[in-house]
Amino acid sequence: MSGRTSTVVKELDFPELPSPEVPTTAFDSIKVLNSSSENLRDYPFSMGEVFENLEISRRFPKSYLAKMKKIREDTAEFREKYILPNIEEIEKKVALDPDYFPYEIIKEGIRYRFPTLIIPEPFGGPGYLAAHIGIMAEELAVGSGGFATTVSVNMAQLITLFDPYLFAVYCKESIEAEKRGETIVWSGAITEPNAGTDRWDADFQNQTRAGLVAKKVDGGYLLNGAKIFTSNGSVARRSAMSAALDPNDCVGTGCLFVVKTDTPGFSIGRVERKMGQKSSATSEQICQDVFVPDDHRVGKIGVTARFTTLYLASSRGPVGAIGVGCGRRALQSLIQWAADRRNGQGRLIDQQALQITISNMARDLAAARSAYIQACMGFDDIASKLLSPWYVRMPLRLMPLSLLTTETFRKTVQSERGRDAVNRGVEWAFPDDKMMYLAGLAANAKVLGSSTGRKVAGEVMQIMGPDAADPKWGVDRAYRDARLTEIYEGTNQACAITNFKAMAGSFVETLGS
Ligand SMILES: Cc1cc2nc3c(=O)[nH]c(=O)nc-3n(C[C@H](O)[C@H](O)[C@H](O)COP(=O)(O)OP(=O)(O)OC[C@H]3O[C@@H](n4cnc5c(N)ncnc54)[C@H](O)[C@@H]3O)c2cc1C
Repeated sequence: MSGRTSTVVKELDFPELPSPEVPTTAFDSIKVLNSSSENLRDYPFSMGEVFENLEISRRFPKSYLAKMKKIREDTAEFREKYILPNIEEIEKKVALDPDYFPYEIIKEGIRYRFPTLIIPEPFGGPGYLAAHIGIMAEELAVGSGGFATTVSVNMAQLITLFDPYLFAVYCKESIEAEKRGETIVWSGAITEPNAGTDRWDADFQNQTRAGLVAKKVDGGYLLNGAKIFTSNGSVARRSAMSAALDPNDCVGTGCLFVVKTDTPGFSIGRVERKMGQKSSATSEQICQDVFVPDDHRVGKIGVTARFTTLYLASSRGPVGAIGVGCGRRALQSLIQWAADRRNGQGRLIDQQALQITISNMARDLAAARSAYIQACMGFDDIASKLLSPWYVRMPLRLMPLSLLTTETFRKTVQSERGRDAVNRGVEWAFPDDKMMYLAGLAANAKVLGSSTGRKVAGEVMQIMGPDAADPKWGVDRAYRDARLTEIYEGTNQACAITNFKAMAGSFVETLGS
């Protein structure tokens, strides 16, 4: 550096930053849950979850594994036939017109029963549970994370499980639509303009005012307000929407509605122009005096926080699976690419440095996959328990859907006593300790799957350099798609907080010792 005098760089004079507000959840304010399961009493220190997993897998019937294999094969076939040959064209169309939605390909999914996945066998559906949805999500995401999201979000219909009448009504509707060769798309709308993370965490819900307010009127409710970032938001015909009767008390007066999107006053706001998951339409949903009849309110008032936790316990595993699928796409591309590429030392695939990198990526993906399978199986174990007693199975087999959708059945299950009974059933099946354990597993699975998928795709991009942008490899798409899985269904930070709260019971003992 001759000719130059080296100068000591002066410390930059930044203006004083305002002291940041540190989000705080006082440990003593966390509901401490001592697990009723011997195995899980000291989770994560006792390895009890290992025994729990083994016991759970012994309880499943053979058909559970058979269905896993079936959905994996079906979805892989759908991906190769319909997604991969069309995804580039779809992404281009969406980039020009965010309103474009690949209906024609979504309709091909009817043969694979994508719109009726969660409908139990006695009702005419394939009866898939969370692990099957997770496997489907991973296989679809290898083709397109956006497609995986579009198909998985139909699971929002699951929210009607908290009201057996509505569940039967919408199972019937979906099955009949399937027979006609139609798809009824669902969305689940929780996030609001001034509340994202705060809406997705049961304990944070009261920290903000509700953005969708329900007012009781004769025969039903009037909904006013907006939801944002709703997947399938602009294409859904049914939307499961959370609202509150008192905007200042989201927990005490929170309620869920099934809203038909052709109801007067319902409209679609902005359809987001996204970098990733372009084949999933994300939009605002706006309600201006939208009338929802009483019979379309799901469950009791004031249980939305619990519903949200339970829903996330089932849905976050499959989101992790989408991340794994994106990472898998990138890794597969890297291997094919490295088999043809050479540097001065020869073929890249022969070189140990790359072999180690590939091995590390595959290991991380396998760990993330185990996490989502574990989370989903934990949830399915309880879901199956709900459906297994003879007094549940018998009526399901003997009573056709037409009987469960009668006015008499509706009056019984939607009476205050009926709603109380359903609530007690859910509390019995998913007691707080079990629910939070499952919520923690699902949160971990979502974080592991999404961050691994994004990380693997990012590393592959760096190794492949400009080639990664070649559409034939799908690597940049995998990165863009995986990135969103770190955000939706509650950000990864929100998931980490859920998991911390789930383990707090064990920490009390550790703190005391
Ligand atoms: C593609 C896409 C699809 C989506 N689909 C749906 C859908 O179908 N239905 C739906 O209801 N919503 C959906 N969402 C919304 C999504 O769930 C929210 O974006 C997410 O919950 C985060 O909320 P936010 O965007 O308001 O961010 P914020 O809540 O404002 O968070 C901003 C940042 O601050 C962090 N943060 C916030 N609070 C805390 C805290 N207490 N402690 C530590 N960190 C914190 C967050 O982790 C994040 O990094 C979707 C979003 C996207 C991008």
